[in-house]
Amino acid sequence: MGAALYEKGRTVHNKRIDGPFRRFKWLMMLVTLGIYYATPWIRWDRGPFAPDQAVLVDLANRRFYMFDIEIWPHEFFFVAGLLIMAGIGLFLVTSAVGRAWCGYACPQTVWTDLFQHVDRFFDGDRNARMRLDKAPWTASKIARRMAKWAVYLAIAFWTGGAWIMYFADAPTLTYAFWRGEAAPVAYATVAVLTGTTFWLGGFMREQVCVYMCPWPRIQTAMLDEKSLIVTYKDWRGEKRGSVKKAAKNPDEYGDCIDCNLCVAVCPTGVDIRAGQQIGCITCGLCIDACDRVMQDVGRPRGLIDYATLDQCKAEAAGAPATPAWKALLRPRLFVYFGVWAAIGAGLLFALGTRSHTDLTVAPDRNPPFMLLKDGSVRNAFTLRLRNMEARPREMEVAMQGLPQGAVMWTEAVSMDNAAPVQRVTVDANATRVLRAYVLLPQGTVAGDFAFRLTALDEQRESDLAPTTFAHPQSDMAENK
Ligand code: SF4
Ligand code: SF4
Repeated sequence: MGAALYEKGRTVHNKRIDGPFRRFKWLMMLVTLGIYYATPWIRWDRGPFAPDQAVLVDLANRRFYMFDIEIWPHEFFFVAGLLIMAGIGLFLVTSAVGRAWCGYACPQTVWTDLFQHVDRFFDGDRNARMRLDKAPWTASKIARRMAKWAVYLAIAFWTGGAWIMYFADAPTLTYAFWRGEAAPVAYATVAVLTGTTFWLGGFMREQVCVYMCPWPRIQTAMLDEKSLIVTYKDWRGEKRGSVKKAAKNPDEYGDCIDCNLCVAVCPTGVDIRAGQQIGCITCGLCIDACDRVMQDVGRPRGLIDYATLDQCKAEAAGAPATPAWKALLRPRLFVYFGVWAAIGAGLLFALGTRSHTDLTVAPDRNPPFMLLKDGSVRNAFTLRLRNMEARPREMEVAMQGLPQGAVMWTEAVSMDNAAPVQRVTVDANATRVLRAYVLLPQGTVAGDFAFRLTALDEQRESDLAPTTFAHPQSDMAENK
């Protein structure tokens, strides 16, 4: 018989525990789920020309709104900057406190935790759940399972439903959704997210962390002997033995009374006493459990604790235990934090000083110019004028760097009204595409020049778009 391709799945029935880390997990669950479910319902007044949803990914108009910040497609570097910050933030957190992301904030952890509380509500704590699992499928067991899975499904559906609210006005979409009038993609997205949440949170649970997620592997490579991890202090705990045995032979036994509570409370079913494992998400629940046991048997807390490998080595050699926070004071963390903060400051500065006016220019290439009967030369351009404010604005388009006598007209202004400067109105939060024709009088030649767009209001924001004037003489020069 060859080796099995897959490890047989086992159900983890984690025991209820209370303590500082469990309470912190409650807090994180409340904050993360609260933010996720409630954010699309927060309203934010941006005036009559913009949506009033505080956080909105407006795919139809290609905008991202986040409170007072509005990101346009040409400003995608802000989103890229935020993603880079998130990446460096994860490096920072992992180097400082190990897999804290996995333990407290990862969606898989948060929803698994929520589903485990649903299990506990319907089936009782660890022992009762284990008994029920082994019990035959009676009517009562089937009814309990149906009720529990119905709650799983409701949570999963609510999760999928909340996601689509980020992409449209939440009250309008909810109304349309229940009337069957929402876009098919909305129903498909909710169906997929309901299915994945139900399956991954309700049934796959720790197997996602152990077998499917690449992040534990990446994080493992980022940890070093100075990173905080959850660790069992074997030099203090071994040899394991009950309080009775230890009372008889105090020199033979360590502090671990082999009660197995640290394993029973672990949401991923890990025995941390066997050393670091990929399944350990460093949630600290085993610390809560062991500290309680140590308190009950009158031994010092911290047999399982957050500590670095360096601290453990020193402690094993007889040095006093070092407070965990001291591990945070090291150059690598300051460098990560400095880079993270510098990117954040740069983004904030760019946001604060950015212009709400933008201009891009594309010259016609076919033909690049028109030679008119009177010897003048005409070029055509496509201008994209952006007004990124939530009010219509009067703007001025001018040409810079062309010889005297150069004039322009647009599709909105006839050739008879050609002038070096033209006025246009651009709607609130809109891009106006304009065809512009530039005429150079006979006997003049031009090359590089620029269009300048200026908002005619108190701010006088402006933007410059360089381009080139194509001319028969520049063509001849190129062909020489
Ligand atoms: S909870 Fe503490 S005492 Fe109990 S088995 Fe785990 S390490 Fe040993
Ligand atoms: S071993 Fe401890 S820290 Fe690791 S996942 Fe289990 S309970 Fe959490």
